[in-house]
Amino acid sequence: MSAIQPMDPKIFELIEHEKQRQREGIELIPSENYTSAAVMEACGSILTNKYSEGYPGKRYYGGQENIDAIENIAIDRAKKLFGAEHVNVQPYSGSPANTAIYFALLNFGDTVMGLKLDHGGHITHGLPIAFSGKAYNFVQYEVDKNTGKIDMEVVRKLALEHKPKMIVAGFTAYPRDIDWKKFKEIADEVGAISVADISHTAGLIAGGVLESPVPYFDVVMTTTHKTLRGPRGAMIMCKEKFAKAIDRAVFPGLQGGPHEHIIAGKAIAFGEALNPEFKIYAKQIQTNARALAEAMKKRGFNLVSDGTDTHLILADLTNKGVPGKQAQMVLDSVGITLNKNTVPFDTRTPMDPSGIRLGTPAVTTRGMKEPEMEMIADWLDRVISNIEDTALHTKIKEEVKEMCLKFPVPGIN
Ligand SMILES: *Cc1c(COP(=O)(O)O)cnc(C)c1O
Repeated sequence: MSAIQPMDPKIFELIEHEKQRQREGIELIPSENYTSAAVMEACGSILTNKYSEGYPGKRYYGGQENIDAIENIAIDRAKKLFGAEHVNVQPYSGSPANTAIYFALLNFGDTVMGLKLDHGGHITHGLPIAFSGKAYNFVQYEVDKNTGKIDMEVVRKLALEHKPKMIVAGFTAYPRDIDWKKFKEIADEVGAISVADISHTAGLIAGGVLESPVPYFDVVMTTTHKTLRGPRGAMIMCKEKFAKAIDRAVFPGLQGGPHEHIIAGKAIAFGEALNPEFKIYAKQIQTNARALAEAMKKRGFNLVSDGTDTHLILADLTNKGVPGKQAQMVLDSVGITLNKNTVPFDTRTPMDPSGIRLGTPAVTTRGMKEPEMEMIADWLDRVISNIEDTALHTKIKEEVKEMCLKFPVPGIN
């Protein structure tokens, strides 16, 4: 940061404030994490200077000897980590990666099945106002009203009725594990291409905590910055028979020059995830999420699906009498960051929904364990049960900071 300070004091100051926010607050947004200092160094390196359109060994520009080696290492490590046949590490992020998959394997207007946004799906899974929803005929499945879980018989019936060309499984706000085998069976029964979007749970899958769809599914996409704890980006894994179509769709179909500084960061993160310690990290994410869920339930929180199998918890605050938006805002003011979220069959609006979504990847990276989850649940309860009590909020903000300073954030001294 020594070069930024004299060159651009304003940006320097804002980064310093953000550093302070990350250090002194509890990060519960389930899609966020802290990358290692090594990953950040790669992302801030001279690799940002290089153009490398194409793929290793088949580039459109010269000077690729180091770039090719870096990209090949990223690919090899990803293959080893997930047991994938083919990997493309160039997608800029999760949304362009999903778009590339659709562009590779569908024609505009084709029928696709994906989970509805307010039931836990992602905007790229067919939200009507998004590119996915406009370009393709998405048929959207929902979770069961009583259990909050996906009912595979409902998915099967919908698939038999609509005969989709592709079925997308994988979620952004769903706390439960997925029955990958059953999804694949349904896709095979109707002759659909199977796509798994493991953006949220990739780290848990790589760490051996959750079952992997990679052996079964035709295509598997993941972001690299969530539980996988790498740089902001994505990758696509697929069976060999789809490799050519996927690669062509990413470049030149959708993207130009790949971000090789980020690909170097991905290579480092995959290397970190191959270390035995990553398995311990992944297990602790799940242990912490279960501990937090239990501690919240003990305090009267109403959890969608009554718990979690993953890193993620979705709470419906209707019984607490506090809307999600207000909860998010007031918790922010005490240094606890999470996001407002719709719950299945929400009667409120997406901008002011009934629920909050939270998760444990970031706090687990800092080394927090079950006792800290109990403390977090207690703060959540005290703030939400006393939403107008600003004196209490000021006191809790101090307590939060005191606890956080005992747990260093990687890359921040
Ligand atoms: C986060 C996420 C994405 C998109 O990732 P971006 O990098 O934000 O574009 C796609 N699918 C799922 C399920 C996600 O959770």
